[in-house]
Amino acid sequence: MTARQTEALPIRVSHVTKTYGSVHALDDVSLDVVSGEFLTLLGPSGSGKTTLLMVLAGFTRPDRGSLKFGDREVIRTPPHLRDVGMTFQNYALFPHMTVAGNVAYPLRLRNVPKAEITERVERALETVQLGGYGSRRIGQLSGGQRQRVALARSIVFEPRILLMDEPLSALDKKLRDQMQIELRHLHDKLGMTTVYVTHDQREALTMSDRIAVVNHGRIMQLATPRELYDRPANRFVADFIGDSTFLPVRRSGRGVAFGDMALTINGPVPEADNLLLMIRPERVTLVRDGQSVAPESNQFAATVREVVYQGDSYLLQSELVDGTLLTMRGAVRGANLSAMPTIGDRVTLNLAPDDAAVIDGSGC
Ligand code: ADP
Ligand code: MG
Repeated sequence: MTARQTEALPIRVSHVTKTYGSVHALDDVSLDVVSGEFLTLLGPSGSGKTTLLMVLAGFTRPDRGSLKFGDREVIRTPPHLRDVGMTFQNYALFPHMTVAGNVAYPLRLRNVPKAEITERVERALETVQLGGYGSRRIGQLSGGQRQRVALARSIVFEPRILLMDEPLSALDKKLRDQMQIELRHLHDKLGMTTVYVTHDQREALTMSDRIAVVNHGRIMQLATPRELYDRPANRFVADFIGDSTFLPVRRSGRGVAFGDMALTINGPVPEADNLLLMIRPERVTLVRDGQSVAPESNQFAATVREVVYQGDSYLLQSELVDGTLLTMRGAVRGANLSAMPTIGDRVTLNLAPDDAAVIDGSGC
């Protein structure tokens, strides 16, 4: 089967606001999605992700703002005229219909001739690896297969924009991990502009070209996965994506200092009153006795308070001079567990200048 590359459309959201009573579901949101991009809205429950997707799909009319697909203003265009495919968390399949009946539904709505429907349904099912499943009942399918049917239904009319709202959240972890990769491949094959919603930061990092981190109806940061992880714009983003220890630091000369310890950092120091050094657990290393380290790297004296073996790695929590607990993740190599530190050990922890990011410590 030859998958068609759709001619993708860019999306421009400008100053979109939506309130429900006193709740600002969307608070002056502006966002550009590049043509053919896989962009993820990531944020906690209630942050406004679904509302924004519903505005894109046309099911929710915002109080203010503009929405363009390519050059066309679509804020007043009804959903079925927007050329948008959508899948939901709960699939919303028709349980009494066959697989083919479900997938054919958007084509029947659009009055596509019958012979063409049969062919396009089979092609969509093949795209999601369900070729030959057309006559099955929805009730006979596993969760993963149902999700694929929902996906086939959202792409069968070859929309130029695909919207997905937590489509994998009902699946178990193994299947979810596999479907994340599959969905990404499908996107690359079909080429449509995709806006994906999840509250799972790892899922967002795995799948996206760029991620918009959303909180309280506002976009906190829009960046590539790598930029978000390494250079979060503020504490909310840093906390939401990955684990970190934060140390209060202050501007000192061209760099920053933690207490009376000057730190060597390679990145910028934000213009903010409240500065934090963000330390990712896997970037910290343990300095062994007699081991030499690069002179410019930052070393923290600490006392081990907790050691947790986790199979593929171990977590070490150590108390710094100011009482902060710094978390480090270490690799477990070989079977020599006695090489791991134990509670009460005095250790030196090392943080290279490239791994020391100073962020705006305001809470948001
Ligand atoms: P998310 O998808 O990120 O979990 P939503 O977009 O569903 O968040 O909701 C954002 C906020 O708007 C929440 O506080 C939610 O309770 C509120 N909200 C969403 N839809 C409605 C609605 N139809 N009526 C009233 N409040 C709503
Ligand atoms: Mg939601």
